[in-house]
Amino acid sequence: QFPGIEGKVVVITGASSGIGEATARHLASLGARVMLGARRTERLEQLAAEIRAVGGAVHFARLDVTDLEDVRRFVALANTTFGRVDVILNNAGVMPLSKLEALKVDEWNRMIDVNIRGVLHGIAAALPVMQAQGSGQVINMASIGAHAVSPTAAVYCATKYAVWAISEGLRQEAGPNLRVTVICPGVTESELADSISDEQGRAEMKEFRRIAIGPDAIARAVAYAIAQPADVDVSEIIVRPTASI
Ligand code: NDP
Repeated sequence: QFPGIEGKVVVITGASSGIGEATARHLASLGARVMLGARRTERLEQLAAEIRAVGGAVHFARLDVTDLEDVRRFVALANTTFGRVDVILNNAGVMPLSKLEALKVDEWNRMIDVNIRGVLHGIAAALPVMQAQGSGQVINMASIGAHAVSPTAAVYCATKYAVWAISEGLRQEAGPNLRVTVICPGVTESELADSISDEQGRAEMKEFRRIAIGPDAIARAVAYAIAQPADVDVSEIIVRPTASI
């Protein structure tokens, strides 16, 4: 049923929770060989054990996407472990929301480092491998926040507009052997809002997230993009709760 996924090597950043974790499970269940990366290795170890227990092919390593050399080592490990890298899912992200006037400059920089530089590092690490093997797919996790800005989310949305622009630029520059997909989820169950340091902001976000869809919905979108034939590029998918405005 999923010939476009079976056997493919998929490298996933931010696989220790939420969307990355759900996508790893889903793709592995469809026969992909998955390489999991994040900072919380105990989570990755547990997830890898669960995937292995049901017959999946999986490997994991500690990864900080803000460090280019770390990302290069991570992708190289996938390449030596599985023999190739078919897809990189640049999924790691943080969302410490606050109003600009709160001047949480450290948090702005953190979002820029993880959400933008992290994606660029993933591209820098994976492109040479994909070019050498003659094919590949880059999937970047943006957000509905790549299409609209809301209060407290100016910097977060700025990073996601950037991810969208980087994805579109890469798609335009890429030849026929590289597929590029940007995924834009609406509000989805995960641990993302835990990074909000402002108490009121965190409480408001909790309320807002009552309509959230499960991360498996985003996992299915990623699987759809990967499963298409090599000459079909799913450039963008927006997935949101039916109840959202
Ligand atoms: P989670 O907080 O559940 O997952 C975020 C993941 O990113 C974790 O695995 C975390 O792992 C990882 N991560 C954070 N910083 C780093 C880092 N420096 N290096 C490596 N990994 C890192 O949230 P989601 O699953 O929701 O987020 C996944 C992506 O989806 C993000 O890019 C987010 O912006 C995007 N998104 C989410 C939406 C939602 O409503 N949930 C909506 C739209 C987009 P660890 O801490 O172990 O390193």
